This record gives sequence, C-alpha cells and structure tokens, in this order.
Amino acid sequence: MDVSNWHALEPQQALQTLGSCMTGLSAGDARHRLRREGPNQLPIAPPEHVLRRLARQFKNVLIAILMLAGLATLAIRHWIDAVVIFGVILAMVLIGTLQEGRAEKALRAIQSLLARHTIVYRDGRLQRLPTDQIVPGDIVRLQAGDQVPADLRLLQAAGLRIDESPLTGESITVDKGIDPVAPRTPLAERRDMAFSGTHVAQGHALGVVVATGARTEIGRIVRLAENISGGHTPLMQQMADLSWKLTIAILVLAAVTFGFGWLIRHAAFEEAFLAAIALAVAAIPEGLPAVVTITLAIGVQRMARRNAIIRRLYAVETLGAVDVICSDKTGTLTHNQMMVRSVVLPQGQLVVAGDGYAPTGRITPAEPLTMADIQPDFERLLRAGVLCNDSALKSEPEWHVVGSATEGALLTLALKAGIDIDAARAACPRSDVLPFEPERRFMVTQHRSASGRVWIVAKGAPETLLARCPSQVRQGTDESLDYEYWQQCLDELTKTGQRPLAIAAAEMAVENTQASLEEMASNLALLGIVGIEDPPRADAIAAVAHCRAAGIHIKMITGDHAATAQAIGARFGLGQAGVLSGQDIDALDDAALRERTRSIDIYARTTPEHKLRLVKALQDRGCVVAMTGDGVNDAPALKQAEVGIAMGRRGTDTAREAAHIVLTDDNFVSIAEAVEQGRTVYDNIKKSVLFLVPTGLAEAMIVVLALLAGLTLPLTPLQILWVNTITATTLGLALAFEHAETDLMQRSPRGRRDSILSGMLAWRIVFVTLVIVAGTFGQFLWAIEHGVPVERARTIAINTVVMFEIAYLFSSRSIVSPVLNWRGLTGNRYVLIAIAITLVFQAALTYTPLLQTVFATRPLDLADWVAILGTASTVFILVELEKTILRRRQRRRDRLASVSV
Ligand code: ATP
Repeated sequence: MDVSNWHALEPQQALQTLGSCMTGLSAGDARHRLRREGPNQLPIAPPEHVLRRLARQFKNVLIAILMLAGLATLAIRHWIDAVVIFGVILAMVLIGTLQEGRAEKALRAIQSLLARHTIVYRDGRLQRLPTDQIVPGDIVRLQAGDQVPADLRLLQAAGLRIDESPLTGESITVDKGIDPVAPRTPLAERRDMAFSGTHVAQGHALGVVVATGARTEIGRIVRLAENISGGHTPLMQQMADLSWKLTIAILVLAAVTFGFGWLIRHAAFEEAFLAAIALAVAAIPEGLPAVVTITLAIGVQRMARRNAIIRRLYAVETLGAVDVICSDKTGTLTHNQMMVRSVVLPQGQLVVAGDGYAPTGRITPAEPLTMADIQPDFERLLRAGVLCNDSALKSEPEWHVVGSATEGALLTLALKAGIDIDAARAACPRSDVLPFEPERRFMVTQHRSASGRVWIVAKGAPETLLARCPSQVRQGTDESLDYEYWQQCLDELTKTGQRPLAIAAAEMAVENTQASLEEMASNLALLGIVGIEDPPRADAIAAVAHCRAAGIHIKMITGDHAATAQAIGARFGLGQAGVLSGQDIDALDDAALRERTRSIDIYARTTPEHKLRLVKALQDRGCVVAMTGDGVNDAPALKQAEVGIAMGRRGTDTAREAAHIVLTDDNFVSIAEAVEQGRTVYDNIKKSVLFLVPTGLAEAMIVVLALLAGLTLPLTPLQILWVNTITATTLGLALAFEHAETDLMQRSPRGRRDSILSGMLAWRIVFVTLVIVAGTFGQFLWAIEHGVPVERARTIAINTVVMFEIAYLFSSRSIVSPVLNWRGLTGNRYVLIAIAITLVFQAALTYTPLLQTVFATRPLDLADWVAILGTASTVFILVELEKTILRRRQRRRDRLASVSV
C-alpha cells in the first residue's frame, strides 16, 4: 500500500483504505497479508563475511609473532620448521574463524529467544502475537512500556505520551491524539501516528498498522538490528591487556636471550636465534584467549537453557560478584496467579473458593450473613471491577489472563458470581480512562449508562482510595465511611498475606467537562475491598535460602501493602528487621537510607524512583547489586544496577532494553541459577589461567636455563609450539566445561575489584612452573649424562612436559578442593576425552615416522615411560598437598574470624 499521508486521513478513512475495522482482521486475511507483505522485521545485520573474519584473525599479536618466527626460520633455511610454523598459523586462523562463527551463530540463536509480542485484535478478540506476525490493517493495543511494533495510525488514545527519541533523537516525550494533521506535517509533529521502534511512556491507545518491517519510518532509516555478540567483557579486556604486556616482555626477553647467546656465550648464530624463537613461542599463552571466549560462550548457553538470556556479555562475569539481589515480589517470588480469596462489604465478609483463573468455586458469606443481605451491593462491586478493567480472560488452552493479573482475578470473581462480562461492559461503554500507574496506585474509568447517567469507577490500593472516599455504599445508598471498620478488615486481610484492593464509584447526572478524571475521582463512595491471594513459589523459597547461604543478601521490593509484603516475606525468612515503606524512604536522607539498607530487607509501597535510590544506597556501601524490574519507569534502576534483570513475560519492552539479562520465566529461581553460573564461569576462567600459564612459563624458563648453562635446548621451537598449541589448548578447553563446584554457593561473593591473579593463584603458578622446570630439565639432563642422543633426550623432555600437563589438569579441576576421589578424577568427561586425544597425539608424535621427521623425535621404550610418568605425577601429589595446607590455613582463619566476631 503506497498511501504515505496516513496522518492526514480521518481514523475511519484509514481503516477503510486498509480494508480493516475496529474488531481487527480475520485470521485468514492476516495470513494472506503476511504472505504478501512479509514478516514485520527490520533488516538484520548480515553476519560478518567469512573472509573478513579470516582476515581479522591476522590482527592478533600472537599470529604476528609467529609470522615473524616463520619468516626468520625461512631466512636461516630451516625449511621444515618454517612449514610447521606456517602450518600452525594456518590452523590457528582457521580454528579462530570457525570458532567465532559458531559463537556468533549461538548468540544470534539465543537472541531470537528475546522475540517480542504484541497485543492485537484478530477475529474480534484480543490476542498476544509475536511482533513479526503483525500485518498492515491489524488493530494494535498499546500501553505504557510497549515498544510500538509497527507504524500505526492512532484510532483511540488516552493520556498517550510517546518517547520518539529512537526516531527523532529528541528525548522529550510527545503527546499523542487522534485528530488528523495537515498532509505536509513533518514526521516529528504527526501527533496522530505512533512509529515503529518508539516507546510508549504513558497512557494507552489503539491504532491500525499502516506499515511494517522495512517499510516503516525506522525501517527506511535502516537501523540494522543490533546483536549481543559485540562488546568485550572487563575480563576479556584484562586478558587482552595481559597478552599485550606479555608479548612485549617476551620480545624484549627473546632479544636479550639472542644477544646473550650470540655475543656473550658465542653460540652459533643459528642456535641463539632458534633459542630466541623458542622462548617467544613458549611464553605466549596461545590457548588463553580462545579458552576465555569459549568459557563465556558456554556460560551464556547454559544460562539460556535455564531461562536467563544474556543481553550484555559482561553481565556473565559480574553476576558472579553479585552480593545483593533486589527482587520484585509479584511474579518473581510469587506465582502472579492472582485469585480473590475474600470480599469485604460494609455488611461483612465473603469467602471465595477456587483455584487460579478458572471461574469455578463457591462464594460463601461469613455467618450470619446471607447472600440476600448483600446481593445488590455485591453485584455493584463486581460490575465496577469488570468496568474499571482493561484485561480479558481466555479459557484456552487453560484459563489465563491477557493483561494484568490483578484485573484477571476480578474478572474470574465476576464469572464465579454469574456476571456476563461482555454484557456488563456493553451496557456501560467507557468514555474516559486514567490508567493504572505504579506511582499513582489506582485506576479510574468513566462510563455512560443506558439511562444517560455518568458513572466514575475506581480501583486501587486502599490507602490511596480510602482517602478519596468520604462515603460507602450499603443497600444501594450512600452513608459516611466507617474508617475504623475498614482499617480492621485491612489488618486481617494483609496479615494472611492477601493483597488488598479497594473498589469505589460515584454516579452523576451529567458529565463534568471542566474537571479532570483524577479530580472527579476525589469524591467517591467505597463499594468494598477484595483480598487477593498470590502464593509464594515453593522453588523460590528454596532458591532464596540457597543465595543467602552463598553470602548474597536478598531484598524484596514491592508496590504492595507493607503488611502483605511482611506476611509473604516471612515465608522467605525475610523481614526480621521490619519493613521500610516508600513513605519512610522519602523521609530519610541518603546517608540514613544507606544505614537502613544494612538490616532492612523488605521495602513496600515503593515506586520506581525508590528502587533507583535503593540501588544507589547499596552501591554506596560497596555492594554489587542485581535488580529486577518490569515497568517503563524501572529502566533507570535497571541501568544503574550492576546487573539489571528484566522480566521476559511481564516486562515491558523498555525494561527489557535497559536490562543486562532477561528472564524468560520471570522466576527468582532463574536469577539464583544465573548467579551460580556466573560464579562458575569466573571460576573456570581462573582454572584455565592457572592451568595454561605455568606450562608456557616453564618452557620459557627451560630455554633460558639451557642457554645460561650453555646446554643444547631441551625443547626445539617446533616442539614448544606443539605443546602450546596442540596439547595445552586441547587440555585447557576441557576446563571450560567444568560444572559448579559443590561448595561454590557456600562461598562469599568475590570482591568487586578482585583481580583474576590473586596472591594465592600467583603463588600456585610459580610453584607449578618450578616443579615442571625441575622435572623436565632433570629428565633431560639425566638422559644426556647417560649418553642418550639429543633427539631422544628431547623426546623424553617433550613427553615429560605433556604428562606434567595431564597430571596437573586433574588438580586444576578445583582450585582448593581435593580431586583425589572418584568425582575429582572422573567428574568431567571432557577432561577424560581431552586426555585421551592428547595421548593419541603424543603416541603419534613419538612413534610415527612422519611426525618423527617433522619434530625430530625418536621412539621411547617402557623404562623411559615409567620415568616420565613417575616424574609427571609429582605435580599432582605436590599440588594436592599444597591444597591441603591451604585449606587448613583457610579453616584456621575462619575460626579466628568467627571468634573475633
Ligand atoms: P511488585 O511486587 O512486583 O512491585 P506489585 O503488584 O506488588 O508488584 P504494583 O503493581 O505497583 O506492585 O501494585 C501496587 C498496588 O497497586 C497493589 O497492591 C494494588 O493495590 C494496586 N494495583 C495493582 N494493580 C492494579 C490495577 N491494575 N488497577 C488498580 N490498582 C492496582
């Protein structure tokens, strides 16, 4: 459709042109249009071309050094060395290209799980559809927090304000309405249009889709859809910096080695040169960048499998350092399966039976009340609950709500009492609305009845609504409000963990066009209060306990009533120090709030601004904060937190875009699991560093020592390359698949600024390096002393280094826990597979004529192997001993700490 002046058409004209109507398209028509127009998607950034990815691999410093080494060996006519070095370069480039391609594909696949949904009218019914299925002519419902799914001509709008910054760059929100504007009006002033990609900041609306996908205004600008694969995590940055520094140090050291060998030791030029190259290729931890990237990617995939989608890669690492989780109550700690359990009228209470949203369950008045006593008042309350309500109930595949859970509970209650929802709504059409906002805590609608009278209906938090109700309705007539009675009922409801919701109304003869709806709703008559049950999730109770054992503090932040929050919080073991309400927070200055956050773990009747203040207060105390959110106004708090977590189901698009992580099931359990995964990733990277660095350092030291002692090199550059690129990487990668250690969630969170190379780890690296140097050098020397030819002595040396690696790999599976047990030795099958592969490699290196020629190796006999294995196993025994000492010291420190507390 090539009409471009939709904004100049009347709503009805636009609908006609698009062949649609207010009740939406039929499913068949929509299918036909989808085939014609294509899916509603922005063009996606094409994946990087494989050749570009290949070329990018050459930017790596390590490859540059290897190229230099290769060229140097060519210059001194060591043809085989040169071929192998260039072969290794080729292999590394190909592996890098393939690996990156796979990682990118995996991340894209995960991103597709973040698909958005839109509420539309199809076949006359409200439906929630994937946003890419929207077609021109669809009638879309917008509400605060939604991202506009396509270009829309507005048909109805109430208090609608849209943030059009993605399109216009202007960050102020724009008022929207439905009156047409002149054909030549510039884009930014087309008030009757809502454009794809912009965000609804307030209010709600209905609009008809006029353009989708690439034909939308934003599609024309062709902002390519972003993906999450970009971006380096602080850890990756730390690693990259480390490799640069290491490379420079190595180059300097290699030059010094060469100078020393040639000029001072008067070694042959060629030999000194080869020693320098050997040193260079030895000390660079070739496998480390690949292992870090793969460990992070595995973490992201494991989290996705457990319902946490990572939007920013660095969150994976930060998650492991989180020490406070601020969680919403409704839907995250509870089921968000709301059901009205009690109804309080001026005459007394009713108890409601049933489960979830299914409209089955008896409504029983508490003795001595009978249904007849309360019938007209109860029915009035039920109708009010249906009218002041934007949601719908669906019976397929099981009873569920489209819209707000609280409103769904009111609809189920009405159905249980036999009210026909559609008929009730048709009898009193809505003429205005003040939508529910968490800051305001109530919602008001205005209706006109068949007799022409105007009805104002409101529902919301009792504290807010009671202040607007000078009267209450009993037997159809107004009487003055019995404040004490309602307060007492409220106490009873909230003590049992029910969420109280008040419903009130006012009737007037004519519409007051002067006053706003909010003003009109300041003189209402209370119809009653309902108590809504939202049970805690049993698995979330366990997950909260799990996190607390891991030294993570849990703070429950809710818009709910303080007493309800306390009753629910008690089920999670929270709230011992009482509850702080939004009002209390307002009365505190930043310093006082900071202090209160030490003991208080329930915050009730809060607004999104309170959330932001809380995050800042906790951060001021040095905490690393994870914060959940779903509303439009939660975005600042989500951005401020180290880890912002948005709800995938309930959350608005705005919250999802501000967040680092999106939960697909909105469940607290997934947060706890993500934290555990975050800790595992960090631990595994630490283990890889611990594993890979000592081997390279040991090889470099062996070369330097040989040169100082005036000996031939125990390992040739090619052999060193073999160890670093083939065996170390194969073995090191297995650590990326390590699962969480059993005590992982009993440790305290790591410090925000803890470096990956803590004192203890640096010590371990030095210690292991020395063991490998002593063992390998010892084996080599012993062989030479006993007249073994140098090639065979070198074969013994290279096999000793690799067997050291294998023995040390077992120890590296855990940093301080012992591994000399069944689980320790066999718990990670990737470790066993990597070892098997490495053994095959070593056998080939030692016994196949081709590799013997290339790497100048010789076959070994059984006695050699016994000596090699005996020497190599020492590293395992020594590290396990060292771990025992470490654990003992740790326990003593813990004991002392507990005494001093
Ligand atoms: P959370 O625990 O995630 O913060 P919440 O549901 O407790 O969520 P809000 O959604 O901000 O917090 O609701 C706060 C209060 O506003 C509720 O206790 C209820 O009294 C009232 N309320 C909630 N939903 C509606 C609604 N759709 N219309 C009117 N009032 C509502």
